[in-house]
Amino acid sequence: MGAVTPGVLALQGGFQAHLRALGPSALEVRTPEELARVDSLVLPGGESTTQGKLIELGGLKPALDGFVRSGKPVFATCAGLILCARYGWLDVDVKRNAYGRQADSFEALDDSGTRRLVFIRAPRIERVGPGVEVLASFNGEPVLVRQKNVTAACYHPELAA
Ligand code: GLN
Repeated sequence: MGAVTPGVLALQGGFQAHLRALGPSALEVRTPEELARVDSLVLPGGESTTQGKLIELGGLKPALDGFVRSGKPVFATCAGLILCARYGWLDVDVKRNAYGRQADSFEALDDSGTRRLVFIRAPRIERVGPGVEVLASFNGEPVLVRQKNVTAACYHPELAA
């Protein structure tokens, strides 16, 4: 019983588009107390360096570790994916800004031809661990992956409605 409350980490970056996509029940998360009120969490794109600093400053790191371990659904895009790799929430290696050299941003279809991919200075997934499932790829490289409750994309589904 009871409605499921989605949350969006709202420290920096593109969190507004995720809030819009999730609808009015979604909450902005900036503190451990706010994190405790949500049943799922989006880690948006933006600047992973800045977001990481704000996570540490706000004392959010242990709360986020606990949230990921609890098995609640987490969806990360772009900078969020970089943070998942850095903090060990996802067993992948990523290279920052790897798709940014071609153009600052571009759109493409994934290898199955079914997903519209919006890349904005996107990270490239260079290695996936044995527990990581590849859900979509682009030019043969993973762009959407899942490990247990954590799903992460190099691209921005919230901008490709
Ligand atoms: N280039 C950014 C970073 O390294 C990620 C870009 C994005 O989130 N759109 O954090």
